[in-house]
Amino acid sequence: MKDKVALVTGGSQGIGRAICLTLAERGATVVACARNEGALKELAAEAKSRELPGAIEPQALDVTDRAAIDALVDSVGERHKRLDILVNNAGITRDGLVMSMDDDQFDDVLTTNLRSAFWLTRAACKLMVRQRYGRIINIGSIAGVMGNPGQANYAASKAGMIGLTKSVAKELGKRKITCNLLAPGFISTEMTEVLPDKVKDGAKQLIPLARFGEVEEISKVAAFLASDDASYITGQVLVVDGGLHM
Ligand code: NAP
Repeated sequence: MKDKVALVTGGSQGIGRAICLTLAERGATVVACARNEGALKELAAEAKSRELPGAIEPQALDVTDRAAIDALVDSVGERHKRLDILVNNAGITRDGLVMSMDDDQFDDVLTTNLRSAFWLTRAACKLMVRQRYGRIINIGSIAGVMGNPGQANYAASKAGMIGLTKSVAKELGKRKITCNLLAPGFISTEMTEVLPDKVKDGAKQLIPLARFGEVEEISKVAAFLASDDASYITGQVLVVDGGLHM
């Protein structure tokens, strides 16, 4: 991925952090975005100290700020003259039963998870169309495919990302831009760390591979979708969940 420029949201921890490192291991220049600038700087320092072939550029960004997204993509275009890979990974949960879910709880999740992916895609694809090359990878969830009690907001946001993915794939395919959605199952990160042990143990019993996935098991699939090896794959939902949903 030498000479490729990537923008990854939610790069400060978990799956996004792993995606930044995997892309940099393969030679890409990665603009790693999140609100926690300190964590991003540590990530960039790690890439440097490991002498990875690519580089990680820390970039403070709140993905709920549309103007900041537009300004960032413009600055990436000015600095690097291209943007090859966009990974819409930033995401939050605000769980609760639908009966008692308030509007903010629903809107916050929809804005962070779905609207941000639309805003970033809209801004990034202008550069991608010009260069006639692009790889857009949306990080969804099996919750968006299966639904999940207590996650009406989260599942709706992730299902929305599937519609976004397929529409973008159909609109931009002629410009050599692919768009796919990677739907993880249970992956060991801070997001799942907070689940009660009872829920974690129950989930493991339903997963044929009988364990949670590791972040690298997602980041390597994201890197595949971002690579030239995936040149004929677009509009797909790729479930990576140890067999939980089949
Ligand atoms: P995580 O450890 O909680 O990390 C979430 C990331 O999103 C952080 O880097 C966070 O950075 C960023 N983020 C949240 N709100 C943001 C905002 N307003 N602006 C910018 N960045 C923001 O979660 P994870 O487990 O790695 O999940 C990553 C993605 O995978 C999410 O989309 C999640 O829905 C999806 N997923 C995870 C699992 C799982 O089992 N872990 C399963 C299915 C799907 P800052 O706080 O520094 O801003």
